[in-house]
Amino acid sequence: MYIYADWAATTPMSRTAINTMNDIMENVYGNPSSLHSIGQKAAEYLLQARIDAANAIGADFKEIYFTSGGSEADNQALVSAARFGKIRGKTQIISTTIEHHAILHTLNKLEKEGFEVTLVDVEPNGIVDPEKIRAAISEKTALVTVMFANNEIGTIQPIRAIGEICHENNIIFHTDAVQAVGHVPINVKDLKIDMLSLSAHKFQGPKGVGILYANKKVPLTNLIEGGAQERGKRAGTENLAAIVSMTAALKEAVAEIDERAAKTTVLRDRLIQGLSEIEHSILNGDAKKRLPGNVNFCFEGIEGESLLLLLDHKHIAASSGSACTSGSLDPSHVLLAIGRPHEVAHGSLRLTFTEKMTEEEIDYIIKSTKEVVEYLRGMSPVWDELQKGELQHVI
Ligand SMILES: *Cc1c(COP(=O)(O)O)cnc(C)c1O
Repeated sequence: MYIYADWAATTPMSRTAINTMNDIMENVYGNPSSLHSIGQKAAEYLLQARIDAANAIGADFKEIYFTSGGSEADNQALVSAARFGKIRGKTQIISTTIEHHAILHTLNKLEKEGFEVTLVDVEPNGIVDPEKIRAAISEKTALVTVMFANNEIGTIQPIRAIGEICHENNIIFHTDAVQAVGHVPINVKDLKIDMLSLSAHKFQGPKGVGILYANKKVPLTNLIEGGAQERGKRAGTENLAAIVSMTAALKEAVAEIDERAAKTTVLRDRLIQGLSEIEHSILNGDAKKRLPGNVNFCFEGIEGESLLLLLDHKHIAASSGSACTSGSLDPSHVLLAIGRPHEVAHGSLRLTFTEKMTEEEIDYIIKSTKEVVEYLRGMSPVWDELQKGELQHVI
């Protein structure tokens, strides 16, 4: 038995997604840009995928652009809104301190090009106060970009309130919804979202494919020049098998969204309850306003990496911070943003899962984590000092 509890890093493909991908690879090999009937058959599948994707998020199919994933969608969204702002004399971009690196690194790049980037702090529960976004807005604001749900601590942001503030002020609103799509209901029109990024491999679709939704307000800037695919905004022959597989997975996830979320939430709360019993531990992120399948804890006196390796020996795949940052020694910027001290931020554990997890597996994770934390603390000089009172507990 192996328990995969790292669904926020990536998900296995669903049976439907695999079957769809195989079917398209075998049977629909044409280039959608070709005029003959083999090409036109592919074009029909591409159009249907665009319609299905649009329906899943409440968009129009003409607002859907297929990309190579969430990172590309984030890059194109930010670069496009920045360019569009610049020609209107608007050079400020507002975001938050807990965004994914696909956003933060693109913002760094835009800053070097002369844009002013304002990162709004989140509250200690990992949620941004919409009024702080309002307060950061100026005459020069071109774009507000706030993630829908955080990839590390799972907190769900008040997207509707932020969308309304942006619309009152005529500002473009983008959200990186990579962790949220397929897990929480999203309607871009209701939520006043102008641009949204999503990625197939976070909802049981294939890796290397995603979507940028952009409404008519924002003229897109190309990141890739070439042919006229994606209405001339993203060149390159479409990865049809991956695109159709993605929309099949998306339709499936959206159709079952409430049922899956209800089951997953029960498992999540059981896991939170169990891990809270470990002394000097703390849940990261709001206990309720978080993704149904996300649990993230800090344990004082241990290193996240050792924790992960020992859990792996017990056949549990978990994560410490995001996959992109593991391998670096810097503590997670998200945990620092919610006020965890450096030494505590190093001892974090993220467990992400779906409704397919069983209660027995949850209980096994709790038991194993308790054992591993106790074992590591037994060898930790820091824990020893904490026990002797030479160091003060911070959690
Ligand atoms: C995974 C992820 C991305 C990157 O998506 P890719 O498809 O892997 O490029 C961006 N933002 C968030 C919040 C993510 O979780």
